[in-house]
Amino acid sequence: MIFEGLAEKLQNTLQGLRGKGTLSEKDVDAAMREVKLALLEADVNYKVVKDFVKRVKERSIGEEVLKSLTPGQQVIKIVNDELKELMGGVQSKLNISSKPPTVILMSGLQGAGKTTTTGKLAYNLKQQGKNPMLVACDVYRPAAVKQLEILADKVGAKFYSEENNNNPVQIATNAVAEAKTLGFDIVIIDTAGRLHIDEELMDELKNIKSSVKPHEILLVVDAMTGQDAVNIVKTFDEALGIDGVILSKLDGDTRGGAALSIRAVTDKAIKFSATGEKIGDLEPFYPDRMANRILGMGDVLSLIEKAQSSVDMDAIKGLDSKMKNMDFNFDDFLLQMQQIKKMGSLKSLIEMIPGLSKQMKNIDVDDKELVKIEAIIQSMTKQERANPSIINGSRKLRIAKGSGMQVNQINRLLKQFEETRKMMKQMSNFTKGKKKMKFPF
Ligand code: GDP
Repeated sequence: MIFEGLAEKLQNTLQGLRGKGTLSEKDVDAAMREVKLALLEADVNYKVVKDFVKRVKERSIGEEVLKSLTPGQQVIKIVNDELKELMGGVQSKLNISSKPPTVILMSGLQGAGKTTTTGKLAYNLKQQGKNPMLVACDVYRPAAVKQLEILADKVGAKFYSEENNNNPVQIATNAVAEAKTLGFDIVIIDTAGRLHIDEELMDELKNIKSSVKPHEILLVVDAMTGQDAVNIVKTFDEALGIDGVILSKLDGDTRGGAALSIRAVTDKAIKFSATGEKIGDLEPFYPDRMANRILGMGDVLSLIEKAQSSVDMDAIKGLDSKMKNMDFNFDDFLLQMQQIKKMGSLKSLIEMIPGLSKQMKNIDVDDKELVKIEAIIQSMTKQERANPSIINGSRKLRIAKGSGMQVNQINRLLKQFEETRKMMKQMSNFTKGKKKMKFPF
């Protein structure tokens, strides 16, 4: 879970303040000592922590806070404000050129998640109505070129590569020219990474930069590397000059040091964060929403936005009345599941629900379950999907074989499906007020 350790410690410390009717300077001091420790343990830069605690303390012991009716809550609000400021205050957007194509240069060390993120970014932009072209400039690793091609295909974006050309500067230049001719409005250039920063890598990036004059140079850094990520941002910025950072693998970062230190130390904005391996697991980085998540207040806004941008409203049109009339069949079930999957991993969605993340953090939410259900449904015939009641013993055996599952797994799904259908029916009756819900007593 994102910021798991930090979130838990901060929430516990601040919870202690929340209930208090009166608060003294000593109470604030004690709480701030805990906050400081929690931030240091989260691998936040030492100077950043010192300044942060100082600011929160100064604001908290002001007369109007301690004398207010809800001093504990006021202090929590101050912590929230300052966390937000630490991450840059407001969201920092991509620089989209008024004269297309907008050229985005992706940089980063090998393994940081650059290629995956390039695909995710294209998906994100595509959902905003853009028409991106992905350019493979990693001439050293054919596997990386293939990986990008697969991602482009998945996203439905144009893919550009030059098989027999090992000059990344030329490839990038040709790609931008082609994008202009063909009318693509965004060009995202995936470059080679190295295991460590070296001069050759920087020179290559600088050469591409001076040839294609990107509107946006993004650096992908792995959140799990904590303070190292901050140093990488500094070094890339000094050598190349970057416009923003994409923090990858935030889902695996239980500490949060990179997210909380990068802006404060380097003055470079985090523009996006990636929270999983799926194509939909990239979100714009909103400092206020991140601060809310750290303090356990959830992030309903991002959840709604994800639903609005990922779910195909035309595809799910009619589902509502099907649910009410018990017409809901396995085809609809599959459709609904596919729409949810597009929003990202289940775990990343759960974390956005206020109050839920803490309780749910120990529950293993396995996206593979969805894949299994999908395989089972896809092994059913058209008739079986439309009318599950015809699925008898021999049909179950066939479906199990086709999907690589056991018959008891098929039985379980059929039972769950029937229960869901009944529940939908009851709920719709209940809300319509036509029939009273039947209770078994
Ligand atoms: P590159 O060498 O920088 O291009 O890195 P890749 O894009 O090939 O990614 C390296 C590995 O990190 C792959 O296994 C990705 O699936 C994984 N990865 C990338 N982004 C994320 C993320 O946000 N979360 C998680 N959990 N894994 C990621």
